[in-house]
Amino acid sequence: MTRKFNFSAGPAALPDEVLLEAQQNLSDWQGKGLSIMEMSHRSDEFVAVAEQAEQDLRDLMSIPENYRVLFLQGGATSQFAMLPMNLLRGKSSADYVNTGIWSKKAIAEAKRYCSVNIAASTESDHFMRAPDQSEIKVNPESAYLHYTSNETIGGVEFDYIPEVQLPLVVDMSSDILSRPLDVSRFGLIYAGAQKNIGPAGLTVVIVREDLLGQTVAGTPTMYDYQVQAEGGSMHNTPPTFAWYLSGLVFQWLKRQGGVEAMAELNQRKASKLYSAIDQSEFFANPIAKNSRSIMNIPFTLADASLEKTFLLESEAAGLLNLQGHRSVGGMRASIYNAVPEAAVDALIAFMADFEKRYG
Ligand SMILES: *Cc1c(COP(=O)(O)O)cnc(C)c1O
Repeated sequence: MTRKFNFSAGPAALPDEVLLEAQQNLSDWQGKGLSIMEMSHRSDEFVAVAEQAEQDLRDLMSIPENYRVLFLQGGATSQFAMLPMNLLRGKSSADYVNTGIWSKKAIAEAKRYCSVNIAASTESDHFMRAPDQSEIKVNPESAYLHYTSNETIGGVEFDYIPEVQLPLVVDMSSDILSRPLDVSRFGLIYAGAQKNIGPAGLTVVIVREDLLGQTVAGTPTMYDYQVQAEGGSMHNTPPTFAWYLSGLVFQWLKRQGGVEAMAELNQRKASKLYSAIDQSEFFANPIAKNSRSIMNIPFTLADASLEKTFLLESEAAGLLNLQGHRSVGGMRASIYNAVPEAAVDALIAFMADFEKRYG
C-alpha cells in the first residue's frame, strides 16, 4: 500500500489504520460471512455498530444526556434548511454571523424561511478575521444565533464560543473533534462527516432535546429532527457504511488519546506551518493571527504565475490536493485530525525547497 499525504479539504484524509481495518473486514465482517454494507440496518449487528459509534462520539465530546445525536444524510448543506424548519419554533427571525462563504450559504437558505438579522459580519474586512464577542449584536426576538466556527475556504476560525442569550447553533463541519468543546454551550451542533469525521454521505447533528418537536408546517418528515431522534436516525435506511466507518474513526480517536491529544497535535501542526509561511518572503497567509484556522491553511505565492508549477511539483512529491478552493484560488493545506504530523513536515520541507529554486 502506497499512501501519499492528502491535504484535501473534503472528502478528506482518513486514518491509515481505519482504512486497513475496514479493508480486512470488507467482504466478511467479523466472521459473519457478509459485508457490513450488505446487512439490514435493523439487524442486531448493525444496530450494535450504530449504537457503539454514538456512544464513542458521546464519550469523545462529553455530550450531556439531554442532547440527542443524529446520524443523517444530505450534508451540512441540508442543515442550512433543516435548522430554520426545526428551530424557528413560532418565531419569524434568526440571527446569523457572517464570516465567509459557508456562513453566506447558510444565511441565503435561512432567508427562504425567515427574516435574517446579521448579528455580526467581517465582510468589510474581506473576511480576514472572526468578529470579537463585543461586535455580536443579537435581536432578542430571534429564534437562535448561527455561526460557522471554522470557515473551511477562508481559513478563519473562532478562538472562542460566542456568549449570547439565544440558543447557539454552529456549523462545525471542518473543526468538530479537533479540540475539546463544551457542548452544553450550544443548542445545536452540526457537521458533514467528510472533513474531520469519516466518509461523505453522513451528517452528524447534536441537538438539545428541548429544542425538538416544533417544526414549521409542511416540514418533510425526513427533515424533522424529532422524527429522526425518535427513530434512532433510522426513519429510513441510513448511510450504513459511512456510519460504520465513522465509528471506526471515533475508536481510532479514542486510541490516540481523544480530542485533548488531537488538540495538542493539531496546534503543533498548524503552528509549524504558519511559522514556515510567516518566516518566508515567498509564501503568505493574510488571516488575523487570533482567527487563523488550525484545520485549513490557505496560502499564496509571491508570484501567482508559479501556482501551477507548485501544484504539479507538490503532487509529484506525494503531497496531494493543495489547490485552493475554486472560488478563491491560491493554495490550501487542510490538516485535519487524520493528516499526520509527518505530512506537515514534508509540506514545509517541500515549500522551503520550492522557494529556494523559484523564490
Ligand atoms: C464542507 C462544508 C459545508 C458543506 O458540506 P456538504 O456536506 O457538502 O453539504 C458546509 N459548511 C462548512 C463549514 C463546510 O466546511
